[in-house]
Amino acid sequence: MLITSFKINHKKLKPGIYLHEVKKIKNFFVTTFDLRFKKPNKGDYLSNSAMHSLEHLIATFYTQNYPEKIYFGPMGCQTGFYLVVGGKKDIKWLEKSLEKLDNFIQKCKKIPGQNPMSCGNYKTLNLSLAKTDWAKWYESKKQWSNKY
Ligand SMILES: [Zn+2]
Repeated sequence: MLITSFKINHKKLKPGIYLHEVKKIKNFFVTTFDLRFKKPNKGDYLSNSAMHSLEHLIATFYTQNYPEKIYFGPMGCQTGFYLVVGGKKDIKWLEKSLEKLDNFIQKCKKIPGQNPMSCGNYKTLNLSLAKTDWAKWYESKKQWSNKY
């Protein structure tokens, strides 16, 4: 069986937000979103530093504001992130949360967990890089796609 991601045509994929998967486990729904920052296989990728810094910021934001958040983390291909939440959610839910997240990132003065106790590679964290890459993506939302 192929994982959901392998069934998506990455040649057509554009930056945007996608409802990646809604999975039912017993009587519980789990929704996975694809936050795609970069067009795949085009030579323009998120740097490890930007990805790592955004991971700290965004994972913290969803943990603090959405009890249904299960997981947030980067894709190994460096083109985006997955957000996993409990319950059946739609793109509108994600859009609303991103507006609050944008505000959170803009106001952030310090990356949460930027210390050797909380992180496995804390010296790579860079707030201004995270803010720049976030703004570049979020401000282009009029051009986003949300259909695979
Ligand atoms: Zn870390």
